[in-house]
Amino acid sequence: MLWDSHMHSFFSGDSDSPMENMILEAINKKLPGICFTEHLDYDYPDSPDMFLLDLNKYKNEFYLLKEKYISKIQINFGIEIGLQPHISDKNNNVIKNYPFDFVIGSSHVVHGFDPYYSTFFTGKSEDEAYREYFESILENLDAFTNFDVYGHIDYVVRYGPNKNRFYNYQKFSDIIDEDLRKIISLGKGIEINTGGFKYGLGHPNPTEDIIKRYKELGGEIITLGSDAHKPEHIAYDFNKLSSILVNAGFKYYTVFHNRKPHFIKL
Ligand SMILES: [Zn+2]
Ligand SMILES: [Zn+2]
Repeated sequence: MLWDSHMHSFFSGDSDSPMENMILEAINKKLPGICFTEHLDYDYPDSPDMFLLDLNKYKNEFYLLKEKYISKIQINFGIEIGLQPHISDKNNNVIKNYPFDFVIGSSHVVHGFDPYYSTFFTGKSEDEAYREYFESILENLDAFTNFDVYGHIDYVVRYGPNKNRFYNYQKFSDIIDEDLRKIISLGKGIEINTGGFKYGLGHPNPTEDIIKRYKELGGEIITLGSDAHKPEHIAYDFNKLSSILVNAGFKYYTVFHNRKPHFIKL
């Protein structure tokens, strides 16, 4: 069984699942380990408090439960921070002040809009909107590098008017390659996020082609995440992951402890 390194509990603004229920389900599914990655998105449009995180409460509850279940499962302390160039100092400050095992940097807000809402797509073609999303990853990488993996790098296709019907890696390979090269040159990784399967895309985020391209370009660090916000979604479709990764050329996947990558044989 595989580690699930991306999940949320009620400390995240969009989950009401108690942390303990998430842990019990992970034990029930016989996972060797999990990492909580609660949301923190500064300057979230329209409702700036929506994805703020009570870090002290989160930390205290986390360590209580980690101790309680220490003989049953490894549990790591992580965060999924929303990246936008102008909030880099605030993000750095949080990361400096808490003992995270793992930091996912994600694009949730692009130029003031979350693609989750249709307003992001207003006045542009779907391809233009997707391209804008991939370009904004480079803008984030120029401003901020204090993360371990970049989250769900084609998250935007979950929400386009046609989702992934007309989307493929080839169409955006110039800009996606730039993103991947930059991530690799910074010594950072990416994740394979099975939320895409849950959203009915038939693919993880990012797609298999992008995972393969990342490996071809020299990428070695890849974490696995369900992006579960409820217990039943922990390790969602993880039975598909080994073959996707092996087909892409990976022999190992990655788990972060104390911000250091550890490689586990597939
Ligand atoms: Zn996310
Ligand atoms: Zn997430």
